Amino acid sequence: MIADGTGISQISATQFYHSEPSNYERFKHIGLIKTSSASDLITDSAAGATAFSAGVKTYNGAIGVNTDTIATPTLLEDLSERGYATGVIATSTITHATPASFYAHVRYRKMEEEIAEALTYSSVDFFAGGGLQFFTDRSDKKDLISELTKNGFEIETTSLNGNITTDPNKKYGFLLADGGMPKMIEGRGSFLYDATALGLSYLKKDKDGFFLMVEGSQIDWGGHNNDSDYLIGEMIDFDVVLGNVLDFAKKDKNTLVIVTADHETGGFTLASDDGNYNKIKPSFSTGGHSATMVPVFAYGPGAEEFSGIYENTAIYEKIKALLKL
Ligand code: MG
Ligand code: ZN
Repeated sequence: MIADGTGISQISATQFYHSEPSNYERFKHIGLIKTSSASDLITDSAAGATAFSAGVKTYNGAIGVNTDTIATPTLLEDLSERGYATGVIATSTITHATPASFYAHVRYRKMEEEIAEALTYSSVDFFAGGGLQFFTDRSDKKDLISELTKNGFEIETTSLNGNITTDPNKKYGFLLADGGMPKMIEGRGSFLYDATALGLSYLKKDKDGFFLMVEGSQIDWGGHNNDSDYLIGEMIDFDVVLGNVLDFAKKDKNTLVIVTADHETGGFTLASDDGNYNKIKPSFSTGGHSATMVPVFAYGPGAEEFSGIYENTAIYEKIKALLKL
């Protein structure tokens, strides 16, 4: 699970601005990652996600390619070849940098039409998010929805009312907005919770195992906007989804949950309000990302491997080692 743009203060906000206990407090194994990319001290989400998905430090803007723009195989692709069912879920477009880095290989993140085409022919079995326009309203006039259907997908564009069947040959795609999904403070509701629950119910049917990437995409956008209401709304949504995922893993006993972020956004902090130590003034120091380390939380078999301070690429290495890939 990737909470895009989430540092310690964003996580702390779930303790001060939500009536329920933060689900982050359920973890016993916590580490910190260094997030610099190959090109910059401060990473973007493309290089940040490619570090997780493919274990390489690359340049800002790179999607599943190395510094020479050569495609680097991803964990999702490796696991799919080994029989795992795979899924990606985001509150951005599904072709946005974070989810794209798990299934696409393009030299620049803004190539969302190319990324949509990559998803169409990828080994992803389940996806949910926004980005319909990149499948239907394309400069090359291709209709990727019919291509996805030919490729075994059941595609829904209006709601999450997917009739998930036990047919192992069926794949499911939900494209519920032209661009990104709405903000929480503008009524997104339980999309991320419901999509994740649906994804888990579909993916767990695969007896070989599954790999699912869930992104709280817009925590980052609240940070870029220096809008604490936006950010906190997204953060609480992610925390609630996290609770459900941890409940699933607790019951399943054989699922490893890793929660982290690609970088921190906004230089966000829970400052005192002009010296009043009983009042928090959520504050920002930048409209961009920051270089601060971000936390990693792990639960389930192998979780103890994620303690310590290490590079973001080590998450990929640790997963591979645990799965003996
Ligand atoms: Mg993102
Ligand atoms: Zn960002």
